[in-house]
Amino acid sequence: MPLDGGKPKYRRILLKFSGEALIGEVGYGIDPKVVQQIALELQELNRIGIEIGLVVGGGNIFRGAGLAAVGMDRVTGDHMGMLATVMNALALQDALERLGVFCRVMSAIRINEVCEDYLRRRAIRHLEKGRLVIFAAGTGNPFFTTDTAASLRAIEIGAELLIKATKVDGVYSADPLVNSDAQFISRLSYDQVIERKLAVMDTTAIIMCRDHSLPLRVFDMHKAGALTHIVKGEDVGTLVSRE
Ligand code: UDP
Repeated sequence: MPLDGGKPKYRRILLKFSGEALIGEVGYGIDPKVVQQIALELQELNRIGIEIGLVVGGGNIFRGAGLAAVGMDRVTGDHMGMLATVMNALALQDALERLGVFCRVMSAIRINEVCEDYLRRRAIRHLEKGRLVIFAAGTGNPFFTTDTAASLRAIEIGAELLIKATKVDGVYSADPLVNSDAQFISRLSYDQVIERKLAVMDTTAIIMCRDHSLPLRVFDMHKAGALTHIVKGEDVGTLVSRE
């Protein structure tokens, strides 16, 4: 969706979506159609000059906690989960490059033959040059999540907004896919998210956002053009911020 002449409110953003978002209709792994759709949305943001950092999860392939539940060593499982995020990042990089968007995958785990190492200064340089940066392998440490990686990288690169893509159009008082009485909440403080145990992002990620006053917007990634509305500053989804 074009910006219709309106100036974007945000110059640099970090978008996080979970690996599950990539499953689409294929049941497991990566649905190329979904990757293409996400790449098209990001192409538009890149075209209008938004500096975009991206963090993608790995839950469509492996999660350490799930592997540990069936007997695997947790740290090994988390390493597998982090490597899964690298695969997702490579799929996105490929789709973006085919659309002509310059893009770099930067991994928190060194795999130089596959992608660049994460180096904060280099990541910022890529963004300044208009390259989209995909931060892969989470934080590089077991026992963390890609939600926490998203808040960490957003703070490190000086993003003005963290955007969390979900399957529903924002934060609800309960899971709206399960509970029909769930109420939509348009604005929340960080402490309200924590106290009410709302499933927005994990608590470590929310605390990082709170302690660094990083606003967080939660939206439905299936709504075409929603990302463009968000960078224009429109009230899409739920805003979590210092109230
Ligand atoms: N992971 C990790 N450290 C990190 C980020 C991720 O060990 O900093 C591992 C962990 O096993 C996690 C998996 O990678 O379950 C995939 O990430 P996540 O569960 O956050 O993906 P999502 O649910 O967003 O798809």
